[in-house]
Amino acid sequence: MSQFTLVIHGGAGNIHRKRMSEVQESAHSKVLVAALTAGEVILSDGGDAVSAVEAAICVLENSPLFNAGKGSVFTMAGTQEMDAAIMEGKDRNAGGVACIGHIRNPISAARAVMEKSPHVLICGTGAEQFARTHNVEWAEPHYFFDQHRWNQLEQIRGTGKMQLDFEGDEETKPESDKYGTVGAVACDSQGNLAAGTSTGGLTNKMPGRIGDTSMIGAGVFADNASCAVSCTGQGEYFMRGLVAADVANRMKFGGAPMDEAAQAAIDSTLSNLGGKGGVIAVDRHGNFSMPFNTTGMFRGYLKGETGKDSCTRAVYMFR
Ligand code: ASP
Repeated sequence: MSQFTLVIHGGAGNIHRKRMSEVQESAHSKVLVAALTAGEVILSDGGDAVSAVEAAICVLENSPLFNAGKGSVFTMAGTQEMDAAIMEGKDRNAGGVACIGHIRNPISAARAVMEKSPHVLICGTGAEQFARTHNVEWAEPHYFFDQHRWNQLEQIRGTGKMQLDFEGDEETKPESDKYGTVGAVACDSQGNLAAGTSTGGLTNKMPGRIGDTSMIGAGVFADNASCAVSCTGQGEYFMRGLVAADVANRMKFGGAPMDEAAQAAIDSTLSNLGGKGGVIAVDRHGNFSMPFNTTGMFRGYLKGETGKDSCTRAVYMFR
């Protein structure tokens, strides 16, 4: 097998053509394409799915346009606390970090936990120190500061509300050029799967809150026997519905095809709980799916073959 597939997302939400200028649209597209290209470089050379997922997510984390890494939202205490996780389908090895700052690319810290610690999930200063010890790049708080994110907090601080990027009425929500959590799933030329997700969480969340993103089975999951999944949306619902694992279980135990399983996880499991969001998923045959129950979702895919120059790729935002 020499074919490979990479699928990415940059968050689901109230993403509507009416609310985005051409400049904003093209800026988001550019970063999404750059993330696909970072993964392509690895996959087209016969590289592994985990490395492609990490590379694609690093590009998205480095952009202030997305709610992860540099673009992370603020807690009610005015701090930035990030969650990330990564999982490989071959042996279901997994790693995650929660409530961290100071790490430029939280997804790389998650990979270090997966590969270099006996644990699956580490939080706070323990996770930061662990990552630093394993040469994951450190960053001072000012690196993550973004005025737009700060303004988002100021708008709702003291109201008791938690703001997901994508909430609000399409017509009345103030213009925003920044949405969502980021994620990637890949099937490499060996037929191995991997998934990763990274986020700053929710604006005005309580300090110490941990969402679905760092939780295996909730916001991320990978198993070669079924599929690789990365989620975005209202984390509490994804945790209660174990949405990422739900997609995989519908395939593994229910015999559902990829597309049907992903759609049912959104339409039944997530929607029945009252949650909003989306998933991206890929199986070992390179089939992929990108369903969501919000207005839009930043997303894109790439399909190629090792040893061949041309790939098929596309990025989307709206329905
Ligand atoms: N799922 C993330 C969280 O709840 C937020 C998002 O996907 O935008 O932390």
